[in-house]
Amino acid sequence: MCTPLAAHALLLLTTDRKGPLSLQAIDRQAMQISQFNVQVPLPDRHEVFVMNTFSDAQVIASADVTQLLDRVSRGESRFDEEERETIDALLENGFLVETREGERADLDRYFHSLREDTEQLRVTVLTTLQCNFACDYCFQGDHGDYNKFAEKMSLETAREVVEWIAGRLDEVRPEKFVLTLFGGEPLLNLPVAYYLAERCHALCTERGVTAGISLITNGLLLTPDVVDRLTPYGLYGVKVTLDGDRDTHNRMRPLRGRQGTFDRIIENVRRVADKVPITIGGNFDESSVDSYPALLDFLKEQEFADKIAKVNFKPIIKSFDRAVAPTGAIPLTLVGASDRPLAGTCMTSAGAGAGASKGSSVCDSCHFADEKMAFLRSETRKRGFPTPDGVHMGPCEIHRRHAHTIGPDGSLYACPGFTGSKTESTGHIDGREDEWRRLAAVRFERLSPKKDECGDCSFVPVCGGGCSVAAHTELGDMHQPSCHKGAFASAVAGLAQRTAEAVAS
Ligand code: SF4
Ligand code: SF4
Repeated sequence: MCTPLAAHALLLLTTDRKGPLSLQAIDRQAMQISQFNVQVPLPDRHEVFVMNTFSDAQVIASADVTQLLDRVSRGESRFDEEERETIDALLENGFLVETREGERADLDRYFHSLREDTEQLRVTVLTTLQCNFACDYCFQGDHGDYNKFAEKMSLETAREVVEWIAGRLDEVRPEKFVLTLFGGEPLLNLPVAYYLAERCHALCTERGVTAGISLITNGLLLTPDVVDRLTPYGLYGVKVTLDGDRDTHNRMRPLRGRQGTFDRIIENVRRVADKVPITIGGNFDESSVDSYPALLDFLKEQEFADKIAKVNFKPIIKSFDRAVAPTGAIPLTLVGASDRPLAGTCMTSAGAGAGASKGSSVCDSCHFADEKMAFLRSETRKRGFPTPDGVHMGPCEIHRRHAHTIGPDGSLYACPGFTGSKTESTGHIDGREDEWRRLAAVRFERLSPKKDECGDCSFVPVCGGGCSVAAHTELGDMHQPSCHKGAFASAVAGLAQRTAEAVAS
């Protein structure tokens, strides 16, 4: 895993440099340090962890290497042979660049290729907006008469969805197709879930495309039968939400009669854990976050603990006044005594929680979420559960052209977080031409993971300006960055610490 690169104390741990580099062609007089270097001092070792968020290169370096970087940034160009060797290694791994302009152009190309990537076609289908829970923080839950009016996909629409997907498969010709079943509670519409799974798998088989299905469910109706029905069609993961320990979860995610749901969900997970990898997701706020360690302890004691593929918590966010909030929006709630919003949240496995880890330039009122995310990640790791590192978080699916979300009526959206607002629909599977959808599509086409406001931030390649839904709801403009830079900084610090420990052991 670790390869010493040069005579200087420079230990390369990992790299994923994008694009070729010809060292011969580089003018070392003009080179500059990369915008995307992040340094974390390791005082115990008298060394520094340096990461480049664009190349993903990570090194543990002695202080003289960082001094070398400083000398380059001051424009020095006279180096001895040993220093030149180190400089070549730093160039090869993206810590030094020919020019900042060139690096920015490389980043543009990278974002462009990410957007146009055809390797995967990803489609999230909301089979229904109905839900059997009544979470206080969620607009989708069964509050009052909401479920009476909440949309549910018909089999006829599901057939049109399949036709639409067939068209995209022929157009994009991906290697892999991923169907995410989402809601509301997707298992409240099993006929459509099964139909989509079966038909999409058949489409993929006919075309030699690998098919995968993920399911995001509250877990109440998750049974071995459901898993057995979906597995032959490519089910590779189920994400279940637990919002804290038993009492907290039961308070946060009750049934409409306020009965608790924790025991039943755990029992359901127990019954399917041998059949499919389970991801535990959780939405926290100030009132629930401290109960997560108890939940983690509980999970660790279960016989299915080693079957848990990932544990990932996200803050519940507040956006707009509940009175004016559209139905079907992602869960948003007022959190914190200060009345201040938390970070964006993404209920999809796709979003990778990007919104849960942005920083400070625009919204610096989210320290609660940033600190708690770091706390929860560390508590999760302590118990041996895999969890995202908080650094490699984006850009999220909204920046991929071939990732789509389809609402119960066949409306198309840029990502699941926008499904609560019909006016944000970018099209319809039947191809109807509404001017307002066309205008929405133009707005989303302009959405870029590179925001002017982010300036020379080192986290642009792994952030992409944050969650656009959070920006839309918290700032009223999806084109603004939804920034939680502090969370990125603390995540890199955690990564540095763990890396140093791993190298030492
Ligand atoms: S914009 Fe936000 S909600 Fe949408 S996919 Fe990205 S992180 Fe998730
Ligand atoms: S890229 Fe932009 S939104 Fe993301 S951390 Fe940096 S300044 Fe904040």
